[in-house]
Amino acid sequence: MTTLYQVHGSVALISLSNPPVNGLGYVTRLSLTDHLQKANSDATVKSIVITGAGKAFSGGADIREFGSPKALQEPNLLSVILMVENSSKPVVAAIHTVCMGGGLELALGCHYRIAAPGCIVALPEVKLGLLPGAGGTQRLPRALGVEPALNMIVSGEPVKSELLAQIPGQKLFDKMASSPESLVQEALAFAQSIADTRPLPLVRNLPCKHSYRDAYFQFARNMVKGMSKNFPAPLKCVDAVEAATKRIFDDGLRFERELFINLMWTPESRALRHIFMAERAASKIPDVPQDAPKREIKAIAMIGAGTMGGGISMNFLNAGIPVRMLEMKQEALDRGLATIRKNYEAQVKKGKLKQDKYEQRMSLLSTTLNYDDLKDADMVIEAVFEEMGAKETVFRELDRVMKPGAILASNTSTLDLNKIAGFTKRPQDVIGTHFFSPANVMKLLEVVRGARTGKDVLATVMALGKKIRKTAVVSGVCDGFIGNRMIERYIQQAGFLLDEGATPQQVDKALEKFGMAMGPFRMGDLAGNDIGWAIRKRRAQETPDMKYSRTADKLCELGRYGQKTGAGWYDYQAGRRDAIPSELVGKMIEDHRKELGITPRKISDEEIVQRLVYALVNEGAHILEDGIASKSGDIDMVYITGYGFPIYRGGPMHYAGEQGLFNVVQAMNRFAQNPRDDQAFWQPAPLLAKLAAEGKSFS
Ligand code: NAD
Repeated sequence: MTTLYQVHGSVALISLSNPPVNGLGYVTRLSLTDHLQKANSDATVKSIVITGAGKAFSGGADIREFGSPKALQEPNLLSVILMVENSSKPVVAAIHTVCMGGGLELALGCHYRIAAPGCIVALPEVKLGLLPGAGGTQRLPRALGVEPALNMIVSGEPVKSELLAQIPGQKLFDKMASSPESLVQEALAFAQSIADTRPLPLVRNLPCKHSYRDAYFQFARNMVKGMSKNFPAPLKCVDAVEAATKRIFDDGLRFERELFINLMWTPESRALRHIFMAERAASKIPDVPQDAPKREIKAIAMIGAGTMGGGISMNFLNAGIPVRMLEMKQEALDRGLATIRKNYEAQVKKGKLKQDKYEQRMSLLSTTLNYDDLKDADMVIEAVFEEMGAKETVFRELDRVMKPGAILASNTSTLDLNKIAGFTKRPQDVIGTHFFSPANVMKLLEVVRGARTGKDVLATVMALGKKIRKTAVVSGVCDGFIGNRMIERYIQQAGFLLDEGATPQQVDKALEKFGMAMGPFRMGDLAGNDIGWAIRKRRAQETPDMKYSRTADKLCELGRYGQKTGAGWYDYQAGRRDAIPSELVGKMIEDHRKELGITPRKISDEEIVQRLVYALVNEGAHILEDGIASKSGDIDMVYITGYGFPIYRGGPMHYAGEQGLFNVVQAMNRFAQNPRDDQAFWQPAPLLAKLAAEGKSFS
């Protein structure tokens, strides 16, 4: 049973018991209704308390059921709430710790609510592209007032119970318990005290009014519209709450249901739900159990205080973990330290960080020029120059000085981690931690699992990733890992498009309209075009068959590396980041076309987006086949959190599924006919071809 039943005197206590958060899936709903019936038919029971066992009252619906018939299977949540409302004996919700979504809707259906302080209360459905679909939009405005309820529903953000209890005239909580520990006892006593009260109070019977309703909802729509571009759910939340002020309760409930079901079928909600699940699944590694033993990481050593070393260190300082940075020269240490200081000071200035917190973080940071000073660290992260020789020097030193059991991590973005591990006598302790720049800001952390990386090391680093608030995704060892291996194909396509007739501006605009945070050429200017140049030079030797447009090389030959040199695909004014179309680059592209004998053609935005995004998808499919990523959701997480892929499209692999893999393959076959393109690349990856033929998607 996923609910527990006890009788205390004349009060039945029903405890939701479905760890970890007492989700209201089908089995729990069934169990809850059974116990409600039992309490109602027991003559010795006069009143009922519903609470949650363990670490939550309830986290809400089971989102794995969304979009499947299970969610609607009777008793669905609406029927359960109706049954609670219709109970002939008073039902008291005893709320603590977490009361979210369907959990709050269930509580709102109870006759009384008593809450423990410190409870997180929210209707977060909007974050999944939905709205509360079991009466939340109709009952919360009645219980809390229209404005605070709409704020909660549109933002999906949690509010502490004691703050809600302070809202004048609120009817959400009839009583606050004095502590979480005494909640159940107080609820039982309260339930006994109101056992004979009739008629039973119902939230649905409360008035729902706003003194200048039409103006208020107009304001709300204007505000929400501006903030929710590409997301349909927030405006529907406004419609639903407005309905609560205009319609009789049951009518409002029907309207809410209709909106909920329509939203459930939107691609945006499917994408958001996919990402929600993928984020949780990313930490699950097929052959490493969740409870695998982990090593304790209490102190970090950082090799290199450059761009990445500094940013990476900040993550640990922010999490209260001491860091010792090592460099070869004092000047480099001073420079690194000054950059960290400057970053924190900017946060203090903006009011994002308190002065004492800043000082506390800086006090956790120390520096050294001597490897022997690192021997007590539990983990060391190397972020020196991207050269195998430099990595070898560092890892041989680390092998010499680090204590047994210390984790040795490399931030390399392109080098072979297995080779790096081979510089030590402890390859089981070596792992890749590929942070993204700026490392103190970007959410993504690719955790690179070497051929001999220990499972406990992997489990430790994944847990550490969570601690420093990164989205950690496991990647196998290959050139570029998941993210950069795919982006190379995307950039390759962008280059061909210039040869064929597009401009950098047109390509960037098309991708930005699709939702990418930045088009490929603006991205190149930001990251530095010289990085790709170096990779192409290496490729020319390693994989000479791979086709490239020569435009990017020509750009670099002009010294136009991007923002850092004041010029790249675009021109930049000193101290500004606005990308200004460059006549010189336009001419360079035209001349290059003439050299190739190409008559430029008009290329549609649709073709631009398809070629770039499907290039990601096909390489992603190869990555899955090669076992570099263990699931397509991991690839989507990489692109959402590290490459500015629009979250409402769910990542490239999910997006391909939405388009239909059959259609993706058809388009690829068309691109393969283009003599200017890399025809070999457009051969669909076997996995993609197979799934397309079977009418399946990657997930
Ligand atoms: P950087 O040039 O800014 O910094 C490297 C630092 O390492 C310098 O301060 C240098 O003095 C120091 N260093 C070099 N050899 C050393 C040694 N033997 N011992 C101690 N210190 C030494 O480089 P970066 O951009 O911070 O890149 C560092 C690593 O991170 C590289 O492997 C790079 O591929 C990777 N990476 C960089 C980015 C990025 O966007 N910059 C992103 C992901 C990964």
